[in-house]
Parts: sequence; structure tokens; C-alpha cells
Amino acid sequence: MSPEDTLPTRGGRFRLRCWGARGTVPSPGQRTVRYGGNTACVEVRSVHEDLIILDAGTGIRTLGQRLEPNTPAHVFLTHRHSDHVIGLPHFAPLFDSSRAVHVHCGNADAGTTRALVDTLLSPPLFPPLPSVLDRLNVQGIVDGAPVDIEGRCTVHRFPARHPGEAAVFRVDDAKGAGVAYAPDNELDYASTDADVIAWRRGLTLALHGVPVLMHDATYTDQELPTHRGWGHSSALEATRFAMECVAGLLVLFHHHPDRSDEQMDAIVQECRELVAYSGSSLRVIAAWEGLTLTV
Ligand SMILES: [Zn+2]
Ligand SMILES: [Zn+2]
Repeated sequence: MSPEDTLPTRGGRFRLRCWGARGTVPSPGQRTVRYGGNTACVEVRSVHEDLIILDAGTGIRTLGQRLEPNTPAHVFLTHRHSDHVIGLPHFAPLFDSSRAVHVHCGNADAGTTRALVDTLLSPPLFPPLPSVLDRLNVQGIVDGAPVDIEGRCTVHRFPARHPGEAAVFRVDDAKGAGVAYAPDNELDYASTDADVIAWRRGLTLALHGVPVLMHDATYTDQELPTHRGWGHSSALEATRFAMECVAGLLVLFHHHPDRSDEQMDAIVQECRELVAYSGSSLRVIAAWEGLTLTV
């Protein structure tokens, strides 16, 4: 990481902070000190401090401890895999009766997500908390019908290619797209299936020109052939996709739990070499816990 990595974008429409960038399972330890071991959670703030939280991995625990009182929290779950929901029972605002917490998920998954949340916050996994469950609001999102946040920004949902009906989110304000978030998404550039190609083209159009794209980079290209159908992309695939989207900054995300800090550095370097070779102006970093960006 170089000093300019901490100041990749300017403008002041959104502020982002990464609280967890790891995929699959928390992976603390000496090998992951710099990029971090907590699983997926990203805080997005509008210029009016509206609070949007993308996924509820273990990173959401620390976020919950730092939040100012009273601000409603809108938690958007891409899907129900454990690395994206396991932090929810440890999100302190759930236990603050003065604060509204809204959980948003795919419309088709609203019932099962509600049941999952109830399970996570009930015996035998957790002490009985009926008052918390009564206050917790789980809402389904219909693709093509964005969620309005206080009339100042919107969250759009698009289908990802990932087992378990996962989503890609795009957060907009009146000026357009601000950030796109696709933590679990199999781009599958090796596929010749017309449906896959059409899906990817549609997603490219939906995310065209986005200033910040946070994208699944679980694998290396060498690992891809033995992991097709697992629902993830390589870092180089994410880079190619970001260039096709004409994104401003690619933030590699959902790091493999076995990936060391030094291996992450090498992956970022490899992606930057692809960008340079392609003559693109895309910038590439890998998310780390504590990374803050201004869009
Ligand atoms: Zn995941
Ligand atoms: Zn997943």
C-alpha cells in the first residue's frame, strides 16, 4: 500500500469505510494484520450522514460500537451466507430501543431472511431477545425498484451470480451512481454461455461509470479452473470487469481467508499491471479494515 492509496477519490458525495473485507470465514492472525480478518461490512454515508451498511459480517460489530446515537441504520444484505450475516447479533444498535434498524434483502428472500435473523437472535444460538426481534424490521427489495433513503439517496439491487440468490448493490444520489458493491459474484469470463454473457453485459451497463466498484476478488486466475460454479471471481476478472464498467476505482474485496498480506500486495500489483497493459485509467486497491474513501 502506498500513501496515495488512502486518498483515491475526492468530491464529497459519499463517505465509505470498510469494517471487514474478508470472505468466507473470519481469518485473524499475523498473516492478515494489514488487510484484516473480519468478514464483509462496509459503511456508506451520504452527505447528510444517512447511514447505509452493506452486509453484516463480523466487521459490523466494531462499526456498531462507534455509531453516533439516533441515526437510523439501513443494513443491506447481499445474501444469507454466514460471512455476510454472522455479525448481526453483535451489532450494538439492535439493543438500543431508541434507534431504528432496518434490514433490507431480496424480496424473494424476505421470509427466509426473517427466519434466519430470528434464528441468529434466539436460543440455542443466542439468549432470548423477544423485544429486539419485535423491533427489527426486515424488508424485501424488488429488483428495479430502488430503496429510497430519506429522500436523499437510493439503493438499487441487481442479481449476482452466486449460490443463494445474492445481490449486487449500487448506491446513488441525485448526481448518479456513487458506489457499487458486489462481494460475491462469479463473472466467469471463461463461459461461452449466452445467458452468462448477457447477464454480465447487463451488469456492466448498470454499473457504467460508477466512481467506486467494490468487487469479489476471492481467487487468483490459477485457482479459477477448480472453482467454477463456486460463485466467486478472480482479482484479474474483477479488474477486467471494472475496466469494462469504466469505473474510477476498483476496490478488490472478499479476500480469500488463506490469503496473506504479502499475497494480497502481489495480487494488487498484478491487477495494476493489467490496467497499465490495457491503457486504462482505472485505479486498483484492495480493501483493508479501516480504509476510508470519499466519493
Ligand atoms: Zn461471502
Ligand atoms: Zn456467499
